[in-house]
Amino acid sequence: MSIAQEIEKRRTFGIISHPDAGKTTLTEKLLLFGGAIQKAGAVKSNKIDMHARSDWMEIEKQRGISVATSVMAFEYEGSKINLLDTPGHQDFAEDTYRTLTAVDSVIMVVDCVKGVEIQTEKLMEVCRMRSTPVISFINKLDREGKDPYDLLDEIEGKLGIEVHPLSWPIGMGKTFQGVYSLYDKSLRLFKGGQQLHEEATKFSDINSPELEKLIGERYANQLREDVEMLQDLYGELPVEDYLSGKVAPVFFGSAVNNFGVKELLDTFLKISPNPKPRKLDEEMITPTHKEFTGFVFKIHANMDPKHRNRIAFLRICSGKFERGSNYYHTRQDKKFRISQATAFMAQDKETIDEAYPGDIIGLYDTGNFKIGDTLTEGMKGIYTGIPAFSPEIFREVINKDAMKTKQLDKGLKQLMDEGVAQLFSFELGSRKAVGVVGQLQFEVIQYRLKHEYGASVEFAPMQLYKACWISAKDPKKLNEFISSKQRHIARDKDDKLVFMAESKAWLQMVQDNFPDIQFHFTSEF
Ligand code: GDP
Repeated sequence: MSIAQEIEKRRTFGIISHPDAGKTTLTEKLLLFGGAIQKAGAVKSNKIDMHARSDWMEIEKQRGISVATSVMAFEYEGSKINLLDTPGHQDFAEDTYRTLTAVDSVIMVVDCVKGVEIQTEKLMEVCRMRSTPVISFINKLDREGKDPYDLLDEIEGKLGIEVHPLSWPIGMGKTFQGVYSLYDKSLRLFKGGQQLHEEATKFSDINSPELEKLIGERYANQLREDVEMLQDLYGELPVEDYLSGKVAPVFFGSAVNNFGVKELLDTFLKISPNPKPRKLDEEMITPTHKEFTGFVFKIHANMDPKHRNRIAFLRICSGKFERGSNYYHTRQDKKFRISQATAFMAQDKETIDEAYPGDIIGLYDTGNFKIGDTLTEGMKGIYTGIPAFSPEIFREVINKDAMKTKQLDKGLKQLMDEGVAQLFSFELGSRKAVGVVGQLQFEVIQYRLKHEYGASVEFAPMQLYKACWISAKDPKKLNEFISSKQRHIARDKDDKLVFMAESKAWLQMVQDNFPDIQFHFTSEF
């Protein structure tokens, strides 16, 4: 098979949802269709148990499982599908943001009872930033939920994306009859239980009396009314607008009953994008580019201090990866021979010899990689689009053991490379601030520094609101700003300038007083 054909058959995507909307259940059904697993219940949820939510050791143990489910690859009807798992716990949201940089599209699960929830809103923001194509699956139609029209309004209102229903529910909860596909004009009846084979009845004319026979007069009339209205309102799906992230096709179903899932998967394969071109510095690299390129979007550390190896997850962007080849690490300006590489199949890892654009491979790492690193055959540059976001909580690092300063510095650096948290070093003095998204990350850092590096730290509260990356057209203005705000200037891990704002009101004031300075809430601008 040629590289172009390999690219053509690949789909790399992630499922996002608020916890409990049904991501794990949907994942499992998709894997069943792909034959990647044989029975329900085989997919471990990466969700953290309720009682473990404040116990991070327990969480890490459970997260350990998630290496196996980080990437689930399977074949379905001639396509190679790479499904990337997105951690559910909000304290590790940055992991999820970064995973979204490695996908070409997203399926978003919404619970029809609860509607659009907060975590979905946050994840959708990341998708919008990157114009990632999104398909929405409205789940749990076997329950009494919100009115479907209201759900569509909610998605548009809260998520800032236009919707385009491709299927429509008939009844809901106890009276749920099934869904009508506006895409291929067919009716699927809901029978409850695990429906492995969805039977669809085609309707070239929805006015056919066959419809009454299947769902009765009341539902038939209601459906005809709905379909007429929806067709007037939406017409044909503008696939281009879906691909550019403007319009989200919407499906209705019930994951646990495996209802509407096959339809979702089949349509997904028809319309979703293959591996897309990506920007290496300023140059667009297409997947068919002859040179192999890829970037690291996630690093998973081994929690066992005796085996301090890590797995770097690399998304292949172009060309063909061949194990045993020498590849160029652009940040370190060095060639590395990659002798070990892992592919992730639904439940197992296996050594692979070659891989193609869209694929995710795991590289054994002894500390050479950090998030955002780029590998090529010789081309220089880095893949952009993996920004850091301003953290939400800050603490000052207090070294409790001066004899272990070296170990502390090394440990901090490696943990930051893994993306566990962000470190900001103040320009004045030697103060260091660690910024995180969730409280639990401080405990993770403290524990790991102690157990893996022998360093002792404490974290002292800091009055900080945001870390803003700063820039200005005129370097003189930037310098003026830096010298007038010296105490509040720090550097991030890449040595970029950051303004540490103490409060929202104060930041606003500073922004007003320094109109020539741009303040950014992400590290890429
Ligand atoms: P996740 O947190 O998004 O991964 O959610 P899960 O897949 O673990 O599902 C959360 C709960 O919702 C579980 O108890 C599922 O059995 C249940 N669930 C999933 N899909 C459906 C559905 O279609 N209908 C109903 N009634 N429950 C569902």
